[in-house]
Amino acid sequence: MDQAKIGKFIADKRREKNLTQSKLAEMLNVTDRAVSKWENGKSLPDSSIMIELCNILKISVNDLLSGEIVSAKNYNEDLESKLIEMVKQKEVADRHLLKLELVIGILSVLVLLIPSIIAAYIPEGAIEVWQRVLIVFSGLIPCVIGILYAVKIEQIAGYYECKLCGHKYVPTYKAVNLAMHMGRTRYLKCPNCQKKSWQKKVISKD
Ligand SMILES: [Zn+2]
Repeated sequence: MDQAKIGKFIADKRREKNLTQSKLAEMLNVTDRAVSKWENGKSLPDSSIMIELCNILKISVNDLLSGEIVSAKNYNEDLESKLIEMVKQKEVADRHLLKLELVIGILSVLVLLIPSIIAAYIPEGAIEVWQRVLIVFSGLIPCVIGILYAVKIEQIAGYYECKLCGHKYVPTYKAVNLAMHMGRTRYLKCPNCQKKSWQKKVISKD
C-alpha cells in the first residue's frame, strides 16, 4: 500500500471539504499530529477511525486505501485484498514490536544486574559504602524506563484475548502496567464481559 499516495489523497479531500487539519482532528477525536502524520505518509489511520474519516471526506474505505477514487468495477475484490493486506502488515509489525520488547526487557534487567555485580566485586575498603550503593542504584533508572517502554510495546502490539468470552481488545497502558502478569499473559478485566481473567497476548484479531 502506498502510504504517501494515501496521505496526499487525504490532504486533498480534506481541503476540498474546507477543513483544517485541526478541525478534522477534532471531528475524529485525535491529535493534530496524527492527522499530519497520515497526510505526510508516515502512518495510516487506525482501522477504528477509518470509517469515520471516510464518512467525513465522503469517500469509500477502498478509495482511501487506494489513495484515489476507485471505479465501481472490481470494487469488492479490491477492497477485500487491501483490507487483508493491511491486517497482515499490522501483524508483521506487531511481531517485530514484540521481539523488540523482549530485547528491551533483557537489556533492562542487565542494566540493573551489571552495576550490582561490579559493586560486589570491588574489594572492601577500596571505595566508600555510599559509592558502592550509588553504583548499585545507577542501573535502577534506566531499568525502570526500559521496563515502562517494554510494557508500552506490549500494550499496543496485537491484542489481549479474554478466554471467557473470546473478546480481543487493546487495554489502556495504565491497566496493563497495573495488571499482574506471567510473561505476556496478564490478569485483566475484559471490557466485553466485565470479568477478570488471565488473558493471553494474540497477534491476530480473527
Ligand atoms: Zn470477556
